Amino acid sequence: MKKNWTIAVSAALLFATIASITQAQIIDSHAHLLPPGMERALNPDVDASAEELRRQMKEAGVTKAAIYAMVQKSDPDAMQSYNDFILNIAKESDDFFAVVSVHPLDGEVAIEEVKRAAALGAKALKLHPFYQGFEIDNPNVSAVVKAAGEVGLAVIFDSIAASDGGATGKFVDLAIANPDTKIVLAHMAGYRFSEMILFAVFAKGPFYNGNVYFDLSAVAPLYANSPRAEELVWTIRQIGVDQFLHASDFPIFDLKSSREAIESYNFTPDELKKLLYDNAATVFGL
Ligand SMILES: [Zn+2]
Repeated sequence: MKKNWTIAVSAALLFATIASITQAQIIDSHAHLLPPGMERALNPDVDASAEELRRQMKEAGVTKAAIYAMVQKSDPDAMQSYNDFILNIAKESDDFFAVVSVHPLDGEVAIEEVKRAAALGAKALKLHPFYQGFEIDNPNVSAVVKAAGEVGLAVIFDSIAASDGGATGKFVDLAIANPDTKIVLAHMAGYRFSEMILFAVFAKGPFYNGNVYFDLSAVAPLYANSPRAEELVWTIRQIGVDQFLHASDFPIFDLKSSREAIESYNFTPDELKKLLYDNAATVFGL
């Protein structure tokens, strides 16, 4: 009799676990939306529109996505109108949260926009050293990172930085100089992901407080089922799974194959839950 009872409880627990996995909430921390008329500027084959993103979210089982703006220097009107476009879409729907953009070399204009966007509900700021054309160690960058932290915005950097061999050290310096800002390195530095172990080294010392996170867009699909797949998982665990976020980089990568990629690695169910939802909810305060 006792044995039957144990089997029944085990079966119930198993079904509950399966149900929680299949119905789990999933956050995609990296998607670009482009304004009307520009939808194919990032990928000529895919509309970077809210409609197409929603379609891919449904297909991939993603329940919430970060939507990104991306602006250029010295055009405050274009900056505000792109950010407002993103903020308005996010405000109208629980499916999205807003990630705005400024150009750090715009100085005070950039800092004022960070404050304005935070007051309007933005959750993070995206900066792109390559696309926007700035050096990571420019003092204006640190000023924007500091201002973002003060109003509760995380700062996401594209971290591929192919032309800057010292990028990893510069990101370490930036994180140490701005301990109260959460910094996300999108793509985990791509082909240089193994260098990110530097953050595990610094975490052992007194100067760095662990305020750097990483999104796995592009890097997870790139190394899925590759000779470096095990090394990627090992590096993530050395740094700490709590620091990593699932992401696609829509419209460049699609949401379904990005999710399949992350699930192809040998993460435990508990680790996958953190990667797919919990960590992003913490970093972006959702
Ligand atoms: Zn991107």
